[in-house]
Amino acid sequence: MEKHITVCPYCGAGCKMNLVVENGYVVEAEPADGVTNRGELCLKGLYGHDFVNDTKILTPRLTHPMIRREKGAELERVSWDEALDFTAERLKRIIDEHGAEAIMLTGSSRGPGNEANFVMQKFVRACLGTNNIDNCARTCHAASVIGLMESVGSGAMSVSIPLLEETDCIFLIGYNPAASHPIVASRIVKAKERGATLIVADPRVIETARIADMYLAQKNGSNIALLNALAYTIVAEDLADWDFIEGHTVGFDEWWKTVERYAPEAVADVVGVAPEQIRQAARLYAMAETAVIGWGMGITQQRQGVDSVHAIAALALITGHIGKHASGLAPVRGQNNVQGSCDMGMWPSLYPGYQRIDDDAVREKFARAWNVPIEKLSPVEGRKLTDLPHGVADGSIRAFYNFGEDPLQTEPDTAQMRRTLEDLDLLISQDIFMTQTTTLADVVLPATSWGEHGGVFTASDRTFQRFSAAVPPKGECRHDWEIFQDLSCRMGYPMSYTSTEEIWNEIRELCPLFFGATYEKMEGLGHAQWPIPDIDHPGSPELYGGGAFTTPDGKAHFFATDYESPTELPDREYPLVLCTVREVGHYSCRSMTGNCKALAALADEPGYVHMNPLDAEARGIDEEQLVWVYSRRGKIISRAALDDRINEGAVYMTYQWWVGKCNELTLHVTDSQSGTPEDKYGACQVEPI
Ligand code: SF4
Repeated sequence: MEKHITVCPYCGAGCKMNLVVENGYVVEAEPADGVTNRGELCLKGLYGHDFVNDTKILTPRLTHPMIRREKGAELERVSWDEALDFTAERLKRIIDEHGAEAIMLTGSSRGPGNEANFVMQKFVRACLGTNNIDNCARTCHAASVIGLMESVGSGAMSVSIPLLEETDCIFLIGYNPAASHPIVASRIVKAKERGATLIVADPRVIETARIADMYLAQKNGSNIALLNALAYTIVAEDLADWDFIEGHTVGFDEWWKTVERYAPEAVADVVGVAPEQIRQAARLYAMAETAVIGWGMGITQQRQGVDSVHAIAALALITGHIGKHASGLAPVRGQNNVQGSCDMGMWPSLYPGYQRIDDDAVREKFARAWNVPIEKLSPVEGRKLTDLPHGVADGSIRAFYNFGEDPLQTEPDTAQMRRTLEDLDLLISQDIFMTQTTTLADVVLPATSWGEHGGVFTASDRTFQRFSAAVPPKGECRHDWEIFQDLSCRMGYPMSYTSTEEIWNEIRELCPLFFGATYEKMEGLGHAQWPIPDIDHPGSPELYGGGAFTTPDGKAHFFATDYESPTELPDREYPLVLCTVREVGHYSCRSMTGNCKALAALADEPGYVHMNPLDAEARGIDEEQLVWVYSRRGKIISRAALDDRINEGAVYMTYQWWVGKCNELTLHVTDSQSGTPEDKYGACQVEPI
């Protein structure tokens, strides 16, 4: 029996564990004493490892390359040489006929790690010559990245997960940590046990709401109105930190011209919370010595996602609850390496290390390092992942390289996404399983999985940690970075890395924020938290100390926006709000957790539609009954789960099921600033079958 220390492949908490291996199979996961998890693991961490063994519960592991020689033909097993030659020839043809901008790629925010993503974006920029590279943050926290970069300078968490235990007040809005990041939820419980005040705003009585000092049962889609009302109260009751505002921010007066219209009484109908409750919550947050605001996709997957993030940042700025110990902003990222995907420049306007593509000095640096003429590195912002349907429909995108994601399962409006993927001239899918998206691919490239390769992940709080291989690759699977490298060589831009450490050292050299994060520091239980600008630097558990913001002028900026109602409101035909959510036992598209024996046994398809018993009674629906759920996009079978913690007038579904896939129903409308879809609000109806 052997043990290999690694990092959990599921959520952004970044829990360390030992994989126990017997006869070449992963048989167990043991918690390790990591900086975040300190000897704890959640359900997925403990029981979500045996997909590596190719259990074939949901789908078999991909073990050999395949190509579809022409549309309508079957996928055919080929050698790696033939698969990569075929891919290179087809990509070159598309570039010759339509230009490099006709190719779009998405990186993987899951098991592959930072080194693979770095090599992919280098291939995209230095070999293909486009910035059409994005990652799944577009679907989840792009609004946080953009909103926070504008407000305070960095799109990442300003505090660390362990520090949640030390704060005096935690305000959660649009975030269900018990389902999304159970170990973060455990830190919140410890803070509460220590005496911290907990405020939760959410339409559902989520698990954390049950231990909250104050629960605000806000209506779906009311974030901006609630956040502005909280800010109004703090200023109107003179609870603001005027020295902080004066010393470290700009734009307060302009911001107040909007926010002064948001007295709690003025928005009580929109928000659905009594004015005195809003005032009380504002006082608790403002008067705490230290405070953290945590949020998730309940904030970002809305029509006004970026505006809501600006409004959250404004709350921290008016109270001075940022830039001091155990205070700040916590947009907790979903997948285990979605922070890392952004760190590595899987973003249409940023190189690795958050360096702008339109900065000539930055482009010159990368051109020199990558040995390409500067003209090869485009200064033009690339396409967003959620632009894909429009780009394919208008003919401007002809090829899509899908790396370790499953947009046919996870993106809104499945029918539209299916048409999009089918209409491409070339769909390449590099993955570990035959996912829904991969079934449509023209080229299937089988990669090694988590457990079979190593590298560095970035946890949600900017913590770099190394993960390692425990078992040999299955079949003919190859490491992701090797696949990109070989493809790049075939397309005329040679790369010759021999290890992930060599790639990581290039990343460090090119990214001042990361330079001090050596492999050595991250050995075993070690970690390094960026910014870490030199080798002797201890890392940065917190950002903006003393009000040193990282915006171009060094000041934090206020932005205010008026509340707008969601795009598709309920009506007579579709009277219920449909909201997508996570569940604790499965992750994302379910390709990994669905292939784990213990987790697969927890639930069967179709998934549940969670609804209030009164809404069910009005429709003659009983607990566990099969039902139709339908919207303007489609109709699916589901099973009713009745729960009085669900607010009346809304239903909630997770998005990983193949039968009863809720994305058949969701609406492809995006926040205009971030391109993040409005997955948290659409109209639907539920009926008994
Ligand atoms: Fe894995 Fe997240 Fe659970 Fe930790 S909290 S064990 S990182 S899924």
